[in-house]
Amino acid sequence: MRLDRIIKGGNVVTPAGTFTGDVGIAGEKIVALGAELEAGPGTDVIDASGHHVLPGVLDVHVHLELPFCGTVSADDYRTGTRAGARGGVTTVIDFAIPYAGDSLSQAADNWLRKAEGKALIDYTFHICITRYAEHKPQIKGMVDRGFTTFKEFMIYESEGWQSDDRALFGTLEQMREHGTMLLVHAESARVLDELIARHHTPELMTRYGARLHPMTRPNFVEAEAIQRAVQWSEATGGQLYIVHLSTAEGTDIIRAAQARGVPVLAETCAQYLVLDDSVFEGKDGHLFACCPQVKKPKDVERLWKGLHDGEVSVVSTDTCTFTREQKAMWDGDWTKIPMGLPGLETLLPLVYTHGVLGGRITLDELAMKLSTNPARIMGLYPRKGAIMVGADADLAIIHPNASRTVSPSTMETNADWSPYEGWELAGFARTTLSRGEVIVDGYKVVGREGRGQWLPRTSAGLEAFQASRPEPIPEAPAPKPRAAAAGAR
Ligand SMILES: [Zn+2]
Repeated sequence: MRLDRIIKGGNVVTPAGTFTGDVGIAGEKIVALGAELEAGPGTDVIDASGHHVLPGVLDVHVHLELPFCGTVSADDYRTGTRAGARGGVTTVIDFAIPYAGDSLSQAADNWLRKAEGKALIDYTFHICITRYAEHKPQIKGMVDRGFTTFKEFMIYESEGWQSDDRALFGTLEQMREHGTMLLVHAESARVLDELIARHHTPELMTRYGARLHPMTRPNFVEAEAIQRAVQWSEATGGQLYIVHLSTAEGTDIIRAAQARGVPVLAETCAQYLVLDDSVFEGKDGHLFACCPQVKKPKDVERLWKGLHDGEVSVVSTDTCTFTREQKAMWDGDWTKIPMGLPGLETLLPLVYTHGVLGGRITLDELAMKLSTNPARIMGLYPRKGAIMVGADADLAIIHPNASRTVSPSTMETNADWSPYEGWELAGFARTTLSRGEVIVDGYKVVGREGRGQWLPRTSAGLEAFQASRPEPIPEAPAPKPRAAAAGAR
């Protein structure tokens, strides 16, 4: 077989386990896995010895160029996808949100225009239902267009995005009918509004500053809303996915619901795994405001356990970048902070360093939570999400322990700050391939913007997840015997 490219001698992570050897690529696809693939004339060989070869990461929760909180998020499809590539991300799923009067189809068109000509990596969107009565009859048409995931927000009335129980219930019925999935931002709107109103006084704002953000969002604000969304999923049989799970209580609710057969899945985000709300105490505490906010160390521990035990299926980022200047809009009032963090560039490094090197999850689990599961759940498997014959050649090659210091000045994101500034992280991509093409080389972005493609889908949710359980791959070779073990002693 003619190979255009061989990734040589790496520690290759596949759904069937890891092996030391080669990945063969023809065109945009992985066509061979082997201990020693043979290069022909013209085959480009990329040395991966001493490195892990991982499936490209799918960040299934990003907001690029999003109008939000009175401004527009600072990473667009150009900088956002370049940042992703440097962190080994090869697919993003954004949220297409209808502006006032827009149909779901117009929202998708708006987001396609944002991405076209700019995206370095592949992409698609979750379609946001913000005005249920108007959008309900449009859902089927979006499924026919290749969109299988929808989103509703249980908060954000002021943005015009909020869905009530009638909308959640009715949309979940639609999800059941079409075999599609509803993503939900679960926070309890009325109680949250009440807690914010009670604290919104000049005295308290002077005294507590940005700490009022966590003070007004106790864990029950998330837990109650997750409980309610789960109830409607259970009642309707509609597939549900809780985005940016941040609390121990919420994780317990998901676990219990899954145990009784509710078709609910959950993701958390990297920031909830490595930060806690002590970040709000510093002078720059307001920079860390995201929604929901980072919680307590016990929540961090529960989320890691949920990843390992299985009730948390995915790690994403909820990337929604704002610069220092944008964050300064708060001017002492925490309700005016543009909420969101940069994340695409540091997703893999954070989860690799704090998860794998930190002894909390294995390398196989990392590939599952960052690549394989998101692809399976979002209806992109087996094209995306795993190193196997027939899949797109989307790969992230990382050094097992060489770390780099996080510094905004050397990063691709438009953020002029980082929640992780000064942290030493391993796991930045030395090489990233997207559909067979090298887009990051020697830790630098070399790919051409606009090469990314929109990804149509036909399925999603727990059904897609269960139907796509990876089989052991017959083509996967036996591990190569280690040289030192072959009789040197
Ligand atoms: Zn989000």
